[in-house]
Amino acid sequence: MSLEKLMKGNAVFTKTYEKNKQLYSDLVNEGQHPKVMWVGCSDSRVVPEFIVKANAGDLFVTRNIANIIPPSDAKDSNSSSVLEYAVEHLHVEHIVICGHTGCGGINAMLQGIPQDSIINDWMKHAYKAKENAEQQNRGDLEINTIKANVLLQAEHLLSFSYVKEKVGRKQLKIHKWLYDMSSGKISFYDDHKNEWNLLN
Ligand SMILES: [Zn+2]
Repeated sequence: MSLEKLMKGNAVFTKTYEKNKQLYSDLVNEGQHPKVMWVGCSDSRVVPEFIVKANAGDLFVTRNIANIIPPSDAKDSNSSSVLEYAVEHLHVEHIVICGHTGCGGINAMLQGIPQDSIINDWMKHAYKAKENAEQQNRGDLEINTIKANVLLQAEHLLSFSYVKEKVGRKQLKIHKWLYDMSSGKISFYDDHKNEWNLLN
């Protein structure tokens, strides 16, 4: 996509904006009150608002390589500040961690990332997912690691005391999702059955 296409795209969007003027002016005047924080991958093919048909104001989003939330002791100020703002100030009721099939970050980790790449440093927060997947003796290592990474990042969320407390008080729920790029469908991890099932 050329930059020119983006510039023309804004002209098209302003027409949509006018048609939905009430929604946008409410968001300006009343501020944002999203109920959901979304942790997704930076991958251009997995656009949160598209895949769940969300509107402006619905999702408080953070995206990075391989939908990672480093644990609290990693002191990553980017993801922790998004998390703190979402949970402590916006009082979101849900956090969705959404991985996806064909994740380039996970693939790179499986194939080995050069030590001098900063991506290697970032992906250390997902290494345990690879180890967990390697212990499974069925299925494909790539998709098993992608799934294990979603579960691992959900664990990392609980390393933040304010998240753990709100989850304990049932004021906050963590959802582990997987988007299938080849079908557009999302699966969720069922904690009770210990299996992945389609949302719909
Ligand atoms: Zn990805």
